Amino acid sequence: MTHPRFSICVAAAVAFPAFALAQSASPVTDWPPARQREILDKTKTVRLAPDLSRLTEGERRAVDEILGVGQIIQQIYEDSLHPRAAEARKRLAAAPDTDLATLYRLFQGPIATTLDNKREPFLAVDPPAPGRNVYPQGATSEEIEAFLATHPLERESILGDRTVVRRATAEWLSGDIAALAQHPLIDGLHPFLAERLKTLAKTPDPKGFYAVPYSVAYADRSMAAYLGLMRAASAVEGDDAEFAGYLRNRARDLVSDSYESGDASWVTGHFGKLNAQIGAYETYDDALFGVKAFYSLSLLLRDETATAELAKGLAGLQEVEDALPYEGKKKVRADIPIGVYEITADFGQARGTNTATNLPNDPLHSRRYGRIILMRENILKNPELQAAAQKRFAAAVEPAHAADLSGDGGFQRTLWHEIGHYLGPERTRDGRPLDQALKDWADALEEMKADLVSLFAHQRLVDAGLSTPEKLRSVQASGILRSLNSNKPRRDQPYQTMQLAQFNFFLDRGLLTAGPEARLAIHYERYPDTVRALLEQVIALQQGGDPAAAQAFFERWTAWTEPLHDALAKRLRDAEGDARYRLVRYAALGE
Ligand SMILES: [Zn+2]
Repeated sequence: MTHPRFSICVAAAVAFPAFALAQSASPVTDWPPARQREILDKTKTVRLAPDLSRLTEGERRAVDEILGVGQIIQQIYEDSLHPRAAEARKRLAAAPDTDLATLYRLFQGPIATTLDNKREPFLAVDPPAPGRNVYPQGATSEEIEAFLATHPLERESILGDRTVVRRATAEWLSGDIAALAQHPLIDGLHPFLAERLKTLAKTPDPKGFYAVPYSVAYADRSMAAYLGLMRAASAVEGDDAEFAGYLRNRARDLVSDSYESGDASWVTGHFGKLNAQIGAYETYDDALFGVKAFYSLSLLLRDETATAELAKGLAGLQEVEDALPYEGKKKVRADIPIGVYEITADFGQARGTNTATNLPNDPLHSRRYGRIILMRENILKNPELQAAAQKRFAAAVEPAHAADLSGDGGFQRTLWHEIGHYLGPERTRDGRPLDQALKDWADALEEMKADLVSLFAHQRLVDAGLSTPEKLRSVQASGILRSLNSNKPRRDQPYQTMQLAQFNFFLDRGLLTAGPEARLAIHYERYPDTVRALLEQVIALQQGGDPAAAQAFFERWTAWTEPLHDALAKRLRDAEGDARYRLVRYAALGE
């Protein structure tokens, strides 16, 4: 993994498994109606409808253009997940009110996540391939690695984060050469590509591979997205010149496949009411190599009051950093680009009930410009999602604690989790970047650090008179909820793995005790010491930079036992009831 994958912090709601699970045999027909209902009966709809009436005329026109680009991005995303998505989409468009169309919308393509957590087609298409549709169908990682061993110069483009890998057949090559010929702007921005493809086309090799950038693989739609963002920029220029500048930079990024100008103006920009995450960032969907970023777009409306309130709370940030249990404190930038937003619409990989976004992942860009934090307020404070969290919490703890998770503890805990990514060490003691040093364990450690910094910071805020014991109690209850898993985590699930490690550590230190039927009692008086002790260990592992030590730590703290973990997990699953899946709909899209 070249990217730290902690940018989207997923709520307790539906998380689509990112990596390939056991796959059942390919069905040759669509699911029967009863199987379709089985999923939809456990699906609840969340509708997001922020008030756009305070936007100016220009901003509203920009919104329309950006939503149009969102629809393009949605299609590219679906097509990058499955080779027959476009066909399925076309077929279901003719029958929009059917259960099959709803399932397609829920899963953003023809592959469902079943009730027993398997990925399976519900339409008559091939089962999901680990390489989705950004590697050649049927290609294995061994086959690609073998090719790269004899063609080392191809590694960078074939394992690039924004390229599609092809077999080097005459057909694929001529298609890509034609796409470049049809789109002079894209051709001009990739000056040596056409020549290279023409050379390859002289001796096609179906056993060989090559890669083209996303702008070439999705050339027509990349151009359409470019023009849509340029029109949006013109519309909003008079009201919000900085946002317009960002849109223009990002428009060019989508046809040049280099995101630096857009990332720089996004992270450092001071925008008005609108903001937008646009482009391919997260690699969760790539189950072959874990390197390809998948397309997303989120259109956001700033909550000015909440953002201003939040900025006040950041005054004590350096004090929190200085109090963290490690040597070699850093100077924390005072102007973290953080804001509270209402989701107007999400597309592609960003669609769902994510609670916060923290981008970009690119270590070079984040070192140069920082990372922007977008708190997704109408998800975090959605009454139905909050009620579901409350139900899960109540199912886990003793009745006496059931009311502890009140107010906005979840919001505050998530907020400081995101800020927590800014605090603590960025490099190992001998100067290596954490993700390179800690490899597969980097994500789990970074996420756990952010969780613990959040709990640690709230204790400090109360001690300093900046928060109240009641608010702390709610944040701490949310911290317990965070540590609960409804299923035994797989090793490739960094969030769930580190949640389990926290849970077991909390039990070990007596912060939690389990009574009959695995009901949890919370001993709040042990909270500060427990959090501090675990945070100390996690930061020490980060600074040590030894993946073997991290592995030993996670092996020690991720035991899963039947009487305790299984019993608790079953109760949590029961509490999810008919809200196993969440379908998000957007008023801005006329839904
Ligand atoms: Zn995080």
